[in-house]
Amino acid sequence: ASEQTLLHVDGVEAIYGDAILALRGVSFGVPKGAIVALLGANGAGKSTTLKAVSNLLGASRGRISKGTITWRGEVTGRLSPADLVRKGIVQVLEGRHCFPQLTVEENLLSGGFARRPGRRELRDDLDRIYALFPRLKLRRRGKAGLLSGGEQQMVAIGRALMSRPTLMLLDEPSMGLAPMIVEEIFEIIRRLNADDGVTFLLAEQNAHLVLRYAHHGVVLENGRVAASAPAADLLARDDVIDFYLGGS
Ligand code: ATP
Repeated sequence: ASEQTLLHVDGVEAIYGDAILALRGVSFGVPKGAIVALLGANGAGKSTTLKAVSNLLGASRGRISKGTITWRGEVTGRLSPADLVRKGIVQVLEGRHCFPQLTVEENLLSGGFARRPGRRELRDDLDRIYALFPRLKLRRRGKAGLLSGGEQQMVAIGRALMSRPTLMLLDEPSMGLAPMIVEEIFEIIRRLNADDGVTFLLAEQNAHLVLRYAHHGVVLENGRVAASAPAADLLARDDVIDFYLGGS
């Protein structure tokens, strides 16, 4: 193929505990330089798919029970989440997850450790993140817990950027945020993608929103891929979106 597929998710089944089958054979690829959206109603399996990719299922008593995930040709099953960060895959968890008692800058710095960077590099990375998120620069000495929800989402994205990721996984970046701030965050995603070449896999319930920014959409229903198509095609098919996503 002319475009390089960085990530292959191939026939993945995932279970929680001993019984709950959350993914029932999910397959899709993420091309280098793409923004891929994972769409689906509540419980369709979006978060589980992201955690399967970042090897974070174990923290929820889950595991991959069948299938493989391949990152740049390497099967990732035995790698820890920290190994994956070093190899370029970083996940921004749902719910923004800042350290509320630490300052904004301390939160950002905490994202850089996997690389063991020098001070100079850390400074450069911070400057880059402050250029993307001027609000964070203004509040860099303030406690993250005092920020608005949108600003905390920016901190979470900024912290993930400190690992210089090739692929960034984002779980419901719009959740609980006002529409204006959501557009601001998606504009940043677009810039990181266009200017810095960061590849994205985004789980998002708001299909109409995310499909305006994504190149490709994968619709999950009940742990299976119900549709997979260029974002523009999915956007043009309101019936598909409404059928699977309840018109969200
Ligand atoms: P949401 O937007 O609600 O997070 P989702 O599409 O991300 O939806 P998942 O969170 O991946 O869906 O959930 C897929 C299925 O797995 C659902 O049936 C859910 O109830 C189940 N599930 C998710 N997390 C757990 C867990 N920690 N333990 C048991 N079952 C879980």
